[in-house]
Amino acid sequence: MIELRSPAQVEQMRPAGRFVADVITHLADAADVGVNLLDLDALAHQMIRERGAVSCYIDYHPSFGASPFGKVLCTSVNDAVLHGLPRDYVLRDGDLLSVDFAASVDGWVSDSALSVVVGTPRPEDLELIDVTSRALDAGIGAARADNRIGDISHAIAEIGRGAGLRINTQFGGHGVGRTMHGDPHIPNDGRPGRGFKLQPGLVIAIEPWFLHTTDQIFTDADGWTLRSQDGSRGAHMEHTIAVTEGDPIVLTAR
Ligand code: MG
Repeated sequence: MIELRSPAQVEQMRPAGRFVADVITHLADAADVGVNLLDLDALAHQMIRERGAVSCYIDYHPSFGASPFGKVLCTSVNDAVLHGLPRDYVLRDGDLLSVDFAASVDGWVSDSALSVVVGTPRPEDLELIDVTSRALDAGIGAARADNRIGDISHAIAEIGRGAGLRINTQFGGHGVGRTMHGDPHIPNDGRPGRGFKLQPGLVIAIEPWFLHTTDQIFTDADGWTLRSQDGSRGAHMEHTIAVTEGDPIVLTAR
């Protein structure tokens, strides 16, 4: 069921958005060569405790997960692109790290993701991050009242395809509210003018993710981390936004 929020409720969702944005910013600053992924998870966990927020991940146990997630953060490195379960791994020079974080504040959830390179970047990784970031911007730009879900999907895919990338539609954006994942699903490719008509008060996470040379993924032995089938690297960018009468509100803007 797709739920719409009143303008007052959208205002109530802002603290969660600001908190999630703040955590993502701190993680991006902390991520560096020599930093352990478990330390990044601990940093996010500490910020959750200090804010009195509630993790959306730690008890998360959907049908595709092997067990409750157990951490508060997703850390996906290099050929891992989504749902990366933090593990005892020290970041190396040139690693491409995607962090994905969602938490609830005052009973409302926000969800955001960011990819960065630690140390010396490969040019192709910076390009992949840039394309993914532009796809997110295009998707947000299409999130206007009277457009449809397919317009967001199409806008994302146009950027990805324009860069020569193949697009996986298995995992994508979603409704956000009292819980992390609600309707509608927002695939990262779709037909313009199709799907649910966007209305003010629709709050959604838009999250393009791309791999360099494939659209095929598999689940790591940890039961969570999604890796590219061919070992190529991935990038992931996500914001939680609210559709309004005018420009969308980016609740997780940094
Ligand atoms: Mg997310």
